[in-house]
Amino acid sequence: MTNYITFSAIQNDLKSGKITCKSLVEHHLSRIESKKNLNVFLSVYADEALAKAEKIDEKIKNNTQGRLAGMIIGLKDVICYENHPLQASSRILDGFVSQFSATIVERLLAEDAIIIGRQNCDEFAMGSTNENSAFGNVLNDADNSRVPGGSSGASAVAIQADLCQISIGSDTGGSVRQPASFCGVVGLKPTYSRLSRYGLAAYASSFDCIGVIGKSVEDIALIMEIVAGKDDFDSTVSSKDVPKYTQNLTFDNNKKIKIAYIKETIENDALQPEIKTAINQKIAFLREQGHTVEAVDFPLLSVILPTYYILTTAEASSNLSRYDGVKYGFRSKNAENLEQMYKKTRSEGFGKTVKERIMLGTFVLSASYYDAYYTKAQKVRRLIQEKTEEIFKEYNFILSPNAPTTAPKFGSFSEDPIQMYLADIFSVQANVVGMPAISIPCGKDNENMPIGLQIMADFFEEEKLMSFSDYLIKNS
Ligand code: GLN
Repeated sequence: MTNYITFSAIQNDLKSGKITCKSLVEHHLSRIESKKNLNVFLSVYADEALAKAEKIDEKIKNNTQGRLAGMIIGLKDVICYENHPLQASSRILDGFVSQFSATIVERLLAEDAIIIGRQNCDEFAMGSTNENSAFGNVLNDADNSRVPGGSSGASAVAIQADLCQISIGSDTGGSVRQPASFCGVVGLKPTYSRLSRYGLAAYASSFDCIGVIGKSVEDIALIMEIVAGKDDFDSTVSSKDVPKYTQNLTFDNNKKIKIAYIKETIENDALQPEIKTAINQKIAFLREQGHTVEAVDFPLLSVILPTYYILTTAEASSNLSRYDGVKYGFRSKNAENLEQMYKKTRSEGFGKTVKERIMLGTFVLSASYYDAYYTKAQKVRRLIQEKTEEIFKEYNFILSPNAPTTAPKFGSFSEDPIQMYLADIFSVQANVVGMPAISIPCGKDNENMPIGLQIMADFFEEEKLMSFSDYLIKNS
């Protein structure tokens, strides 16, 4: 079967009878089987997906199908799907089965999407390489000796290797965009509060966003149109109307726009030379088209990352306190009393990175250091937000690389986790301020590894962000 780049092509072939929903599911199941070595799926819901496909094929015959009939979706293992396992790729949730579905999942299912399985990720979405999963590494399909990125690494590989049409991931500090860039696919992190977080396993609640990974902007726009918007189960979701993203995907190239890039992100010696060249080519293209692209200063760049890691670890230490061996999943068998049970469950159940972050977060929240770290980081967060908003008073978008390098080899960061934290430098700004950002493919490096371009927009400007991205993909 063809590797469909757009869902609209799938729908055309479904309509003409060239394919059926069942044959689509079979196609992806056989791809999943033949690419098993990539370690993408932790569970595959084969029988269920096939049975559902037959029902949807009936609906297509009667013309009663939903808008996502024929859409095959994978869920990162942090998104609840009723009566299906959920583990956040952690031992601590061994045996846990979700009792309800995330709002997003409900909305996808209501339009006849088929969920094909649960995707591996970094434990509790903490990591940038997918090496922190309790279920082993996920391999990049472009080069199996390299990481797929993280934490939604498997979700990106699933799209790269055509194991499903859309993956639903989460992005707390780049986890949708960075793996999308390492795998040469498209990944969108919407504005914080655009999508419901109900049913998303929490990492750092004031940063967490569900995001969408796909082969085309068009597909992502459709998913966004269906899942975005108000939700009674999540009071942080904006009640702003959801635009018809799919109907407004045409970028008007005659209207000249202003684009900024933060000087230090591109004119930076640590940036891999091919990434610099690829981004400079895009900038040159945009200038040729008559748009303005200018360098701007952002003196706070160096404090974005510490702010992110102070605040997210603080929130994580609080969010993850619920995993105590009583309510969910795993409980240590080696405990003789209650206190030991808590301690041993958490020591045995969580992996190294998660424990590091819980400890760091507990430290920054401790009475003697709260003001020095947590309160201060909150203030700096506000400053970063204000300075970023100032840029958007003058410019429509901010361009940057997604990461300083293309996908590294496995083990590159094992000696020094700080190096891994540094790799998030360009992606966390959007989460610290809550604005939407996307990663789109932007060529390959000398070893044929995909390069990603990040585009960030002002709050709730997903519509413009997507149409501009679609234009860039198709024209440059
Ligand atoms: N690498 C970042 C972290 O480990 C991003 C995680 C994410 O976006 N979920 O925190």
